[in-house]
Amino acid sequence: MDRVTVETIPAGIDSTIVERTIDSGFPLLMFPRRLEAAFEREVGADRCRQLAIGGLFGIVLYNLFLISDWLTAPDTFQTAVGLRLGIITPIGFLLIAALFLNPPVAVREFLVAAGAVILGGGSNLYLMLIGHSPHHDAQRQIIILIVLFITMVQRVRFWYAVAACLGCVAMHAVGLAMLPAYPFEFQVSANAVFGCAVILSIFASYVLEREMRMNFLLSLRGRLQRRDLDVESRRDPLTGLRNRRSLDEVIEVCNQCKAIGEELAIVLLDIDHFKAFNDTAGHQAGDVCLKRVAGIIQSELRDHVDAAFRFGGEEFILVLRGIDLPTAIKISERIRCAIEDAAIPHPALALGEVVTVSMGVASAIVSREVRVGAIISAADSALYAAKRNGRNQVSPRLPIADVVDMTDRKFRMK
Ligand code: GH3
Ligand code: MG
Ligand code: MG
Repeated sequence: MDRVTVETIPAGIDSTIVERTIDSGFPLLMFPRRLEAAFEREVGADRCRQLAIGGLFGIVLYNLFLISDWLTAPDTFQTAVGLRLGIITPIGFLLIAALFLNPPVAVREFLVAAGAVILGGGSNLYLMLIGHSPHHDAQRQIIILIVLFITMVQRVRFWYAVAACLGCVAMHAVGLAMLPAYPFEFQVSANAVFGCAVILSIFASYVLEREMRMNFLLSLRGRLQRRDLDVESRRDPLTGLRNRRSLDEVIEVCNQCKAIGEELAIVLLDIDHFKAFNDTAGHQAGDVCLKRVAGIIQSELRDHVDAAFRFGGEEFILVLRGIDLPTAIKISERIRCAIEDAAIPHPALALGEVVTVSMGVASAIVSREVRVGAIISAADSALYAAKRNGRNQVSPRLPIADVVDMTDRKFRMK
């Protein structure tokens, strides 16, 4: 019976967990388990697509280095063609294809990080080490491109990026040490420059991921706030029941489509002698009474199927879907009894008299000809009859045989 909520809010997430996580600053770039799962569910598919595009981009750039292979290391060019086009590229495509299977986050990030380091970094290092031409070491700096690819292009999740970058540092150091032309001092300085570039990249990776996670939390906070406002704007502040605005929306939905061909019962409920209650006990006591009556009504209805609204003043309206007239009358009788049994003293009546309600019931199959408004009018006439016939009753009345089983468990809808 509710309006469709346009914005999605992950199941099991409330504003407490979101606010607490925002306040914590999540320095380790990890959310509490439920929130982390929601985060992954929300960004996972997009992330796989983005990684696949980045991967294709990386493969193209990687193969463009064939030009450099040809210019600087002609002795290993054939090997480079075989390695780049025949081995690494197909494996790269397989990894990209695996991303379309939406793998779990750990597998996804590991594949991307390890793929870049082992395939990209490892193959370039291998080509550099087997070459003998004078400039065969020209590509030793390619490894920094791998670091940038992992941290900036693919934005591999921080902790996986750290591990991958450490792999690149090791690869760079080993590669340099194995090149005979570089003295120790040069190796130290080249490793230091490379190390600094890695640290800066890791720092950027941290900042980027933190920003992305914060954006997710802020968007979630916005959605939760809008949902709360949405719920509030449809709630009567005094009784907590739904208000007229919400009723109008439900009527519209019932009229438009869903309830067409479905039996719909409407019950109007009005507190008896309530003006006298207010005049004697005061408006505040009247408010307390309204709240109690509303609470009893709500507790007697089926969650998520029936809906109770404050119609105005001390009048309530119940919308019961899929319920025929005899059943609606029995439900109403049960509610009437529950309110009477609550024995709320009525200060304006004789000692021992309690607050009672009168109820008017109508039911029909909603169709293009019979709209919800017509059923409400019929219920209103029935309520008027209940008042006229002496109050504290449901109208129309059922034959006595039907009333006997009125308190039957099957009509207790909860
Ligand atoms: P009847 O048995 O015929 O229904 O008589 P009644 O006195 O209940 O009906 P009437 O329509 O004359 O009075 C309704 C009263 O409900 C008038 C007003 O004082 C009271 N009322 C309406 N809204 C509120 C509210 O929000 N809080 C309180 N405390 N009283 C309200
Ligand atoms: Mg009244
Ligand atoms: Mg009234």
